[in-house]
Amino acid sequence: MTAGAFEAGEPVLLIDRKDRRYLVDLAAGREFHTHTGVIAHDDIIGAPEGARLRSSRGSAFLAVRPTLADAVLKMPRGAQVVYPKDTGAILMLADVFPGARVLEAGVGSGALSMSLLRAGAVVSGYERREDFCARARANVERFCGPEALERYRTEVRDVYEGIDETGLDRMVLDLPEPWRVVPHAGRALRTGGILLAYTPSIVQVRRLRRALDDSPFDLHDTVEVLHRGWHVEGDAVRPNHRMVAHTGFLTASRLTSS
Ligand code: SAH
Repeated sequence: MTAGAFEAGEPVLLIDRKDRRYLVDLAAGREFHTHTGVIAHDDIIGAPEGARLRSSRGSAFLAVRPTLADAVLKMPRGAQVVYPKDTGAILMLADVFPGARVLEAGVGSGALSMSLLRAGAVVSGYERREDFCARARANVERFCGPEALERYRTEVRDVYEGIDETGLDRMVLDLPEPWRVVPHAGRALRTGGILLAYTPSIVQVRRLRRALDDSPFDLHDTVEVLHRGWHVEGDAVRPNHRMVAHTGFLTASRLTSS
């Protein structure tokens, strides 16, 4: 993450007057084309973040570095990603800290991995699909930088079959049957460690909570995050008509010594 002028090789977010957003990887000599004209990448490279540019047809564009949330919503995905409204809460509920040893499964497109890495964690990711592992690594490198890959190990494997790591601080699960991981998590986490699972359906929560009740885990906590944007324009101030009403439930629990 740099703070100076835009450089070749980094992603930039271009936003037009109508709030349409385009994610562009800057390269010397290249051009960005839309129906409202052309912008040369060379006009962006060297410009300060927040620069306002004009296309060949006079349309105004704002250039900023994508936030992590922008990146997640725009990046190439295979699997459904965890939305920014939930990743923020996951970092708190799972209490992810710099240097924390975290096991993540499944990795999917790497959206959640990016947030864990951004929070300073050292992440081992288990993912069944090799193509998803590769995509997640590419997304992490593109949006978190190559140094983040040094704290990011991915393995193509099924977490239901077991976990090699021990003494883990945290475990973050986004897969269909998290209850099948609870026995492995009891051995892989250190006591006091936190398991967090993201599940779209409340039936999954029910099964997970039952498995946690029958395990050394305690202090279970299940929440959902409702995030309602507001429209603010002059005196027209009201909630947005549309919202993402449902994504998933978050369940956190701590490993105790009994
Ligand atoms: N949290 C991810 C999305 C994960 S989607 C993100 O934010 O981008 C769920 C992923 O779990 C899929 O990629 C699927 O292949 C993987 N998966 C499902 N069951 C698994 C298992 N038993 N072990 C490892 N990965 C699994």
